[in-house]
Amino acid sequence: MRIGVIGGGQLGMMLGSAAKELGHSCVFVDPNADCSASHVGDVLNYSFDDISFVKKLASSCDVVSYEFENVDTAILNALQKSVPVHPSLSLLEVSKDRYAEKIMLNDNGIETAKFRKVESEVDAHRAAVELGFPFILKTRRFGYDGKGQYFLKNNADLLQAVASIETFSHIAESLVPFDLEVSKIATRSAGGSIAYYPLTQNIHKGGILQMSVAPAFFSEAEHLNFLAEQQVEKICSVYDYIGTLAVEFFVCGKKLIANEIAPRVHNSGHWTLDGGSTSQFENHIRAITGMPLGSTEVSKKITMVNVIGTHVDSQEIKKLNGVEYDYKKSARPGRKLAHFNLVDASDAVIQQALSL
Ligand code: AMP
Repeated sequence: MRIGVIGGGQLGMMLGSAAKELGHSCVFVDPNADCSASHVGDVLNYSFDDISFVKKLASSCDVVSYEFENVDTAILNALQKSVPVHPSLSLLEVSKDRYAEKIMLNDNGIETAKFRKVESEVDAHRAAVELGFPFILKTRRFGYDGKGQYFLKNNADLLQAVASIETFSHIAESLVPFDLEVSKIATRSAGGSIAYYPLTQNIHKGGILQMSVAPAFFSEAEHLNFLAEQQVEKICSVYDYIGTLAVEFFVCGKKLIANEIAPRVHNSGHWTLDGGSTSQFENHIRAITGMPLGSTEVSKKITMVNVIGTHVDSQEIKKLNGVEYDYKKSARPGRKLAHFNLVDASDAVIQQALSL
């Protein structure tokens, strides 16, 4: 099949590699002709909000997917008039807006942090009273990797944040005193079967994912893995979801508190490339092209380390027996440039990996 993917970043690149292995081909829409995915498929060189690529993409593809959430709704609606678009646009719309996302989660019986809509300075002060300090103020849309977030410890922080915000379209969230962070990656086929990956433990630094370990091995992991599966199943069936998705959670004792949903392949699932089973990318391609899903059983411990901001010497990664995935990007502070996976690595090796 010919698969169209909106976005040609590293997620597109890894989707493209998986598609090739399965005998499909990809065309990516990206404003950068030299994007990461250009190494594994063709690129339609358009800006993401340029509706003129719709006709070209729809006429040349059997199915269309996307690698990031903030794809223009009008474009996706126009596309799906002539070509199937997966995953479901309805869940995508909800996941673009942190406020709508939390309402949807609660409506489906899934616990989140306490939250309030903040549309004005007055709302921000009211949220402080109702939620109490500390709390987090986040933009409802376009926030990722901790961008657009204010961590507010007291009234002085609140006044400073409020003064720097030009337009209020925010959500206030109570700070969750979590023990750790996990995510659940799963893929649902068009027929409704779901392949669940084991629970993944995630470590963030400055709001950016630094490391993931799977299967998660803390004391409540088995019980919480089961709980996460039930929650993912609920979301998938409500939205008749097709493809890979990720749900990020905070772990508080024996409880899961959902933080966000990504209706796409996810950074915390990159370890699946070396887990000995079908990767999240391959299963996504399988789902959207109507192929049966592959096994998600994992028998080894995999650690994924993100390379952020500055490049790391590939030889150093090799010395640790790491498998590197280079996104072929230029270095920039905070930018994800590559990741590497370590199979059954000792704590000492993981520490070395984190200090590269
Ligand atoms: P987000 O952009 O919502 O994925 O947040 C990025 C990271 O900030 C999360 O992975 C957490 O480490 C932290 N964080 C976000 N929201 C909260 C919260 N309500 N309570 C505690 N930590 C949070």
